[in-house]
Amino acid sequence: MRLIFLGAPGAGKGTMASAVSAAEGIAHISTGDLFRKHLTDKTELGILAEGYMSAGKLVPDDVTVGMVRVRLQEEDAKAGFIFDGFPRTLAQAEALDAMLAELDLKLDAVIDLAVPETELFRRITTRRVCRQCGQIYNVETMPSKVAGICDLCGGELMQRADDNAETLRARLDVYYDQTEPLIEYYRKQGLLQSFDNMNKEGSDVDQIVDLVQKSKRV
Ligand code: AMP
Repeated sequence: MRLIFLGAPGAGKGTMASAVSAAEGIAHISTGDLFRKHLTDKTELGILAEGYMSAGKLVPDDVTVGMVRVRLQEEDAKAGFIFDGFPRTLAQAEALDAMLAELDLKLDAVIDLAVPETELFRRITTRRVCRQCGQIYNVETMPSKVAGICDLCGGELMQRADDNAETLRARLDVYYDQTEPLIEYYRKQGLLQSFDNMNKEGSDVDQIVDLVQKSKRV
């Protein structure tokens, strides 16, 4: 399957994408995670991305699309993939369409996760992620078994540098301005599915897996 998860920061894209990736045996491609890995490894790309990320701005389209092009060629993506946090602009969506056409591949569905803004602020400011494997937690609603330690790999949990109220405001402004128009873009292509993701983080994983399975092209 080939899927895109759309939604504002904190809408649950990462949590849902990682559950669907495990259920379907397909690659989870998070451009945010890829940039963070580059940052940790102090690559040229990571150093370039850092300024944009800490300001809540988007990394330029050509850089982002180039990174995705490389990632799509990795072996695990052959079985299918879920994009989490990509595309985020119309130019990225058009570049992805061109890339998929070149590879003779089609998307199965684009799932838009809808969550009200007050809930996004709550989730983002209480979110924690594993420094080692990237697993997502929430100190209030989805805590790890042992405080500060990842259930999956034993890594240390941390708060992302951009998960604060001020940077979230900037990220949301960028989302409304540049990413939200993609809902209409994919609706017109007949690919859009909307999912009201208001309940506690991760509690509707089964419904999402169900929706994904029903979206499979036959
Ligand atoms: P995320 O983990 O998806 O919240 O992304 C964290 C940050 O990485 C964003 O605020 C951007 O600075 C950058 N980023 C992630 N994905 C993209 C993308 N598709 N286009 C441009 N910048 C991105």
